[in-house]
Amino acid sequence: MKEAVETTLRGPEAYSLARRAVEAMEAASVWPTPLNFELWLQYLGDPDGALGREIERMLAAGEPFTEAVAEMLAAEYLPRGRLTEEIRDAGRVLDRELSSVTEAISKAHKAQSAYGRTLEGAAGSLEAADGAPQLRAIVADLSGATRKIKRDNETLEKKLELSTREIARLSEHLEQVRRDSMTDALTNLANRKAFDEQLENACQAALADGGRLSLAVLDIDHFKRFNDTWGHQTGDQVLRYVASVLSKSAKPPRVAARYGGEEFAIIFPSESLPEVEGALEGIRREIGSRSLRRRSTNDDLGAVTVSIGFAHRRSGETAVSLLGRADAALYASKRSGRNRVTCADWLDDAA
Ligand code: GH3
Ligand code: MG
Ligand code: MG
Repeated sequence: MKEAVETTLRGPEAYSLARRAVEAMEAASVWPTPLNFELWLQYLGDPDGALGREIERMLAAGEPFTEAVAEMLAAEYLPRGRLTEEIRDAGRVLDRELSSVTEAISKAHKAQSAYGRTLEGAAGSLEAADGAPQLRAIVADLSGATRKIKRDNETLEKKLELSTREIARLSEHLEQVRRDSMTDALTNLANRKAFDEQLENACQAALADGGRLSLAVLDIDHFKRFNDTWGHQTGDQVLRYVASVLSKSAKPPRVAARYGGEEFAIIFPSESLPEVEGALEGIRREIGSRSLRRRSTNDDLGAVTVSIGFAHRRSGETAVSLLGRADAALYASKRSGRNRVTCADWLDDAA
């Protein structure tokens, strides 16, 4: 997808795509900031992609396209420029280290061969040697060659040690980059990408061993009101608060993630339905149990509540279907008054 848009950006279509992006932003009353422009280019380049669908959903719902929202969409859907850059840099360092090691090894190899030839020559000369002066000359030759090979080996060892250290540093850095790319920067929970991957893995594992698997989705109630009254920064503070309760309550093997804006999700591997329901009730109660204070002004924000839906995976069920049922249960929680937990199975029973 990225290639497709980039080709379009440098091809004959470039100006027309840019014009369409500006027009579409204007029609949607979205400011043409550089970030919005980038989002719209990607969106129009691939209107059926995940970013396009999300933007269309937001516009249809009349949700305000704020800077915070744009940044979240960018983090979620735009190709990771920084990440690519870091990986390219890492590749360059690795190339440099590898060629320096290869060169050192090939030099050492040549030196070893030369040393071997010196030894062979010396063996031949020893047989033919006659008298102490000749022997002394041979021994002097040998010890000179031995000193040289010792020096060469020490140089090689030092070079290898430096390279090993550099490569270890690099792999630690890459590991950090990998972790960052899987983490939501605001809440430190797993991000959507990491979550989708883990849910897919959990479904595969459940399919392979017939184990249990449940999925819950949580959505903050009336969060928009919160943002509108207190501003986005306070909204962000609320998101961090909810995330902190989730990360306390959803320790491994459970996985908690920020699924999108003010939506979260939890994977429960190998737990029974009553266990999952009990845990979710606990989380719901704990989130709503505190009266929050606005950090900057100490204003009383009241309590924040969440609506939750969950589903227990049916035999052979895909991640998409499981997510769809958990979502339907969340929607039922919203419809029946919010601040509650609904299981998808209860809906089926009622239907
Ligand atoms: P409901 O109870 O039906 O869920 O109502 P709601 O107001 O919570 O739901 P709605 O989907 O209308 O609004 C969600 C809001 O969340 C809209 C959007 O501006 C806001 N939002 C999304 N991401 C972020 C973010 O990262 N930070 C902040 N502060 N707000 C965000
Ligand atoms: Mg929502
Ligand atoms: Mg909400």
